[in-house]
Order: sequence, then C-alpha cells, then structure tokens
Amino acid sequence: MKFYFPQAIKNMSSKTWRCCAGNGRGWMASSGEPDVLVIGGGNAALCAALMAREAGASVLMLESAPRAWRGGNSMHVRNLRCMHDEPQDVLVEAYPEQEFWQDLLKVTGGLTSESLARLVIRHSSRCRPWMRRHGVHFQPPLSGALHVARTNAFFMGGGKALVNAYYRSAQNLGVQVRYETPVRSLEIVDGRFGAAITETGERITAKSCVLACGGFESNLGWQREAWGQNERGEWPAENFLIRGTRYNQGVLLRFMIDAGADTIGDPTQAHCVAIDARAPLYDGGICTRIDCVSLGVVVNRDGQRFYDEGEDFWPKRYAIWGRLVAQQPGQTAWSIIDRKAVGRFMPPVFEGTRADTLEDLAQKIGLDPAPFMDTMHAYNAACRGGTFDHTTLDDCRTDGLSPAKTHWALPINAPPFYAYPLRPGITFTYLGMRTDHTAAVHFGGAPSANLFAAGEMMAGNVLGKGYTAGVGMSIGTAFGRIAGVNAAQSAGFTHPEFKEEFAYAAAH
Ligand SMILES: Cc1cc2nc3c(=O)[nH]c(=O)nc-3n(C[C@H](O)[C@H](O)[C@H](O)COP(=O)(O)OP(=O)(O)OC[C@H]3O[C@@H](n4cnc5c(N)ncnc54)[C@H](O)[C@@H]3O)c2cc1C
Repeated sequence: MKFYFPQAIKNMSSKTWRCCAGNGRGWMASSGEPDVLVIGGGNAALCAALMAREAGASVLMLESAPRAWRGGNSMHVRNLRCMHDEPQDVLVEAYPEQEFWQDLLKVTGGLTSESLARLVIRHSSRCRPWMRRHGVHFQPPLSGALHVARTNAFFMGGGKALVNAYYRSAQNLGVQVRYETPVRSLEIVDGRFGAAITETGERITAKSCVLACGGFESNLGWQREAWGQNERGEWPAENFLIRGTRYNQGVLLRFMIDAGADTIGDPTQAHCVAIDARAPLYDGGICTRIDCVSLGVVVNRDGQRFYDEGEDFWPKRYAIWGRLVAQQPGQTAWSIIDRKAVGRFMPPVFEGTRADTLEDLAQKIGLDPAPFMDTMHAYNAACRGGTFDHTTLDDCRTDGLSPAKTHWALPINAPPFYAYPLRPGITFTYLGMRTDHTAAVHFGGAPSANLFAAGEMMAGNVLGKGYTAGVGMSIGTAFGRIAGVNAAQSAGFTHPEFKEEFAYAAAH
C-alpha cells in the first residue's frame, strides 16, 4: 500500500514530537504537552486524530478500552452511506444530494439541521479516497444487502478492519495512543479547554481537544433514568441489551451537560433495533439482529400482534422495532415464521425455537397457547392472496385485521414453525452537544475556540430521531475530520491539503 505522508509531518523535528508506537501504553511524560488531545477511540476519534496529525500537530488519543476492545461501536459497523452523482467503484448508479437529504428528512421527521446534514452528505461524496489512503478497503455488498448497493459503501472486513487500519495509520504517523485511560472530567474556563482529568486523577493539558467518546448507550443507569417507569410499573430500560461497546458510559457527555455546554436531542431517542433476547448484554453486534419480522408475525407476551410487520421494506423499518418491543409488556416479543420464510432472511446467530404445530411452539416459548392461537387463526384467516415478492411492496395483505399486515402477508401454516425471542437492542443514543459546521462545542450559543465534538457525541444535530442505514459513519467521518482540522488549526497548524475539500463540502 502506498503510504500517505503529508509534507507538514515530514518537516517536523523528531525532537518536537517523539513517536511512540507499539503497545499503546507508552505515553511519556517527557513528550510534553500534545498540541491536540483526542478523547475516544472509535471512528470519529481516529478521523480527528489522523487529520490533526496530517496538519502537523502532535496528537495524543485517550481510549477507555483496553487495546483488544478498542474502537467503540465503530468496530461493529459494516458500511457508510455516500452521496454520488454517478457510479463510483463499489457504488452503483447515483445517489444525489437531494435524494440523500430527502431520506434523512423523512426518517428524522424534520428533527435535523439542514445545513449540518448537507455538510455531512457532501462530505460523504469525497471522503473515501482519504479513507483508502489510511488503509480502509471497500467491497460491494453481499447477497443479503443488495438493496443498499446504490447508497452504501461496505468496508471489507467490517468495522474491525476499518478501526485496525486507522490505528495502524495513526501509529505510523506518530499519533500516540493510550488505552485503558478513561477521562472523567475536563478543565474548561470561559468555554476554553485547559486539561483533561483521567479516572486515576492524572491531569493532561493540550492546546485543543476533540471529544469523540460516544453516546451514553452503555450506561444502564442513565438509560433507566431517561426511560423512567411505564404505566405497568416496569422500568423498560432494565430489559435493554446494548448492541455495541460497554465503554460508552456517557461520562463526558454528562460532565459537559453539567458544565453548561449547549445540548441537543432527547435522551430517549436512540437507534434501537429488535435483537435476539439471548444476545449478550454488550457487544452482540450485527449477528444478533432478527431479520425475519416482515416474513411472519410478531406477538407480545400476551400472544397479541401489535404492529404492521409488512409496513415497508425491512431496511427502512428494522430500526423502529426496538422501540416497539420496548413498549410491550416485559419489553419482549417473538417473531413467528413458518417453513416458507426459511432461507429468505439473514440467519441470526442463535437458532429459532422449532415445533411442528403452532400450539407446541407456544408451549415451548412459554406463551399461553389460547390467546396465541386466536391471534394466529385470525391472522391466517385475514391473509388475502396476491403474488408474494419480498423485493417489492407486494399485494399480499390482510383484510379486516387490526393491526393490518400490508405486504408479504402469507398464512403461517407450513410446518416446521419457528420462534425468535426479541428484546430492544440499543445501538446508540442521540442526546449530544450542539455544534456548528466547525464541530465547535457551544456554551450559551458561543462556539469554543479550542474544544470540538464529533461522532455520536454530536450526531443529534443531524439525527433528532429515526435512522437511515450507514449515516452514523457518514456523520462520524465528516465531523471527525472537520474537528481534527479545526483542533489543529486552533493549536496553530493548518492542514496542507484539505481546505479545498472543506470549502467544497460547505459551499455545495
Ligand atoms: C452493532 C452495530 C452496528 C452498526 N453498524 C453501522 C453501520 O453499518 N454503519 C453506520 O454508519 N453505523 C453503524 N453503527 C453505528 C456506528 O457504530 C456509530 O455511529 C459510530 O461508530 C460512532 O462512532 P464514534 O466514534 O462516535 O463512537 P464509538 O465508535 O463508539 O467510539 C467511542 C469511543 O470513546 C471511548 N470512550 C468512551 N468514553 C470515554 C471516556 N470517558 N474516556 C476515553 N474514552 C472514552 C470508547 O471506548 C470508544 O472507543 C453500528 C453500531 C452498532 C453497535
């Protein structure tokens, strides 16, 4: 691979900044104060660190996790949503700015900043050559994901390979990384960053700082507080599973809120998917998702259906089912299919419970068979013919049933039958810090001169609610890079090559 090494770095004296490659625990006090401190260790942090370093700044990254678990939620990702006006290597046809924007507008219901969203969209059309230079490889989607071949570029080797490539590149460029170094607070005076205080009480100063330490999704106590108690006396968040890292505890998000930073977003808004109830509490990742919902029916603990399983294509609906399940008694539900659905969805990592009759299935999964069978009989009787086609919004629908199933409604009558238990799987939360196009953190409406935020910590500026696949990485990559350039700028370093690119993104 040809290695990218900007002139600014080549010109740096080794005395001014000593590279500390290797096990990542080698921050040396003798290295002095870094120009730019990046807090976090996922995609947004890495993009910021690489850009700041390319500008010539010395950079120190502090990552909570040990090296083996580095990379936060970013290690679980598969793809990035990209605007493009014509086919681009792995991306087919075109996905113009206006279409991307309309998709975002629709899923957020207008809870988005148009200027920041458009900045992300434009940036997504230009960032991939830079990503490649830092070792990220792309591949066309595999058969189960062909529906996003036009809009999303897939990472070869997934998020783990992306994160590893960025760490390798950062290490080669001389970015210092300290693992197992959670930051608990910051020193901020009149909106200016002064120092970070680690959990062990160490004080680390820098000329500027980028906060890229995720949302608060992994903090079950905060989730409990945000979701509160429901009308049944349950605390819904007690039954949530976290799809990604355990290290996004929201410690600095809470600190910044208490320190008076301007915030954006609702703490209960999050990307929330229905996942297999048997998944681990943290880091189950993509393979615990249950993707057969639109091929069958979903019943709650009382054996009742509660939503149209065939409302729209699954990629446009999967992210509402976590919240739907969260509203059910016990925050649980079961996806029920028959033989006809097998082979038509991405098989989850856990096998479904199997039975030769629906009554047996109800018994095996611990549901009262009577109401369950009433639901199944009513559903089967309401299915109205049509030509089944899972690739279109077909005409197989129910008649006279509430809730209706409006597409792909085939009777569930071909044994064996399968049931998959569901629970809400939280991907990431949207409460974050308000920023502008420079990624600066704001206090009382005024931007900080040297404190920036990127990734999940500010994604709520673009995603007030809802989701469209791949946009988490578009936001983190755009704002990570912008934050890195501006943090370097505030420390006295100008990025050699990217002024033009940012001007392009801001102007178009
Ligand atoms: C299973 C799964 C699949 C996903 N798939 C996709 C996908 O295909 N496409 C897409 O666009 N998005 C996807 N997402 C969402 C995506 O992961 C996020 O939008 C994106 O990775 C966020 O990047 P980030 O850098 O902001 O946060 P993260 O990658 O989570 O990084 C946060 C980092 O901060 C560190 N940290 C936290 N607190 C502290 C502290 N106090 N001090 C120091 N360090 C701290 C953490 O250890 C972590 O390294 C997926 C998420 C999950 C969980």
